[in-house]
Amino acid sequence: MGTHLSETIAPHGGKLIDRFVKEADKAAALNKAKELPKITLNARQISDLELIATGAVSPLSGFMTEADYISVVNNMRLANGLPWSIPVTLGVSKELAETLKVDGEAALVSDSGDILAILHVRQIFGWDKEHEAAKVYGTTEEAHPGVAALYTTPELLVGGEVDVIQLPAHNDFKEYYLTPSQTRAVFAERNWKTVVGFQTRNPVHRAHEYLQKVALEMVDGLLLHPLVGETKGDDIPADVRMDCYKVLLDNYYPMNRTLLAVNPAAMRYAGPREAIFHALIRKNYGCTHFIVGRDHAGVGNYYGTYDAQEIFNSFTPEEIGIVPLKFEHTFWCSKCGSMASTKSCPHGAEDRVMLSGTKVREMLKAGQIPPVEFTRPEVAEVLIRAMKA
Ligand code: ADP
Repeated sequence: MGTHLSETIAPHGGKLIDRFVKEADKAAALNKAKELPKITLNARQISDLELIATGAVSPLSGFMTEADYISVVNNMRLANGLPWSIPVTLGVSKELAETLKVDGEAALVSDSGDILAILHVRQIFGWDKEHEAAKVYGTTEEAHPGVAALYTTPELLVGGEVDVIQLPAHNDFKEYYLTPSQTRAVFAERNWKTVVGFQTRNPVHRAHEYLQKVALEMVDGLLLHPLVGETKGDDIPADVRMDCYKVLLDNYYPMNRTLLAVNPAAMRYAGPREAIFHALIRKNYGCTHFIVGRDHAGVGNYYGTYDAQEIFNSFTPEEIGIVPLKFEHTFWCSKCGSMASTKSCPHGAEDRVMLSGTKVREMLKAGQIPPVEFTRPEVAEVLIRAMKA
């Protein structure tokens, strides 16, 4: 799909990528793939494949080759200069690499052996894991879940474009897997000129709701866009979260100004670097604005509270395109009787109920019902039911 008049914002790099094999060519591609050396993808790599196929990571048309990889790790830009903050790479073992030929092809398969895509092998190269960890995650500690995942990746990377024949079926909430061209079509149909995207890997709590609604006062529509790829073990599973989002939207949001769809990406927990990645992905889905609150995509104490906002200063607004809407740490103030932040509330710490997904998880684990200042009762009910199941 190219650019058209009613679109909210141009995709990153100008053109929305579509790496799906055309229906008429599928049978031939499948036949050919059967004869090729096979690379089995894990869940994270399948998420990346889906992002590439649908254009969610435009302008990427495959897994990164070395020039892009090095440039992204060191300079937060693709080799052509376009901002890009997170490597999208495919790791293979030495033994597997020996079965591949540069300028040949390989079949990408699921762990049940289904052929998903053909990879055009452009390059096989070594990489420095600790260097990537230090640059992209800001730490080489294995305690960091993103770094731990990186360290399990094999010693070689294979780069090249992909042609996707099929993706594994989504059994849960599949109607919410809208592609960038589909969300763009919804925005055009609803005549939204400005759309704010919201990333989350948590149920939507009152702080999240507040940020979204403050943004909705200024833009035409909200894309509530939870990440549903792999997250760390103690995060609330995506199916439970989806139930939370639905019940919340039904009860508290203007449906004609809200769209719920999912982001198939895996969570990296790369904090500031991932904030840029999350923003660029939402730009591809057609969002003009993107919410970045406190410690966006952070984990533990690896990042400063506002690092994920400051990193946007490394680029000009024009080259990022999507506008970050930066929010202070928000809380419930019992004197104000509302959500607020230090920007809007003069009261002291003793009047403030500090909210966080982590806190809610802890309360649920301890069998406590989160108060309305934390979580809407309908959402708390879904969470409690899920804890009991
Ligand atoms: P993640 O950023 O890892 O997906 P969350 O789902 O908790 O984590 O956060 C979603 C978004 O909401 C992020 O931009 C985050 O910075 C923001 N956010 C979450 N809680 C608060 C809060 N209390 N105050 C301000 N921003 C917040």
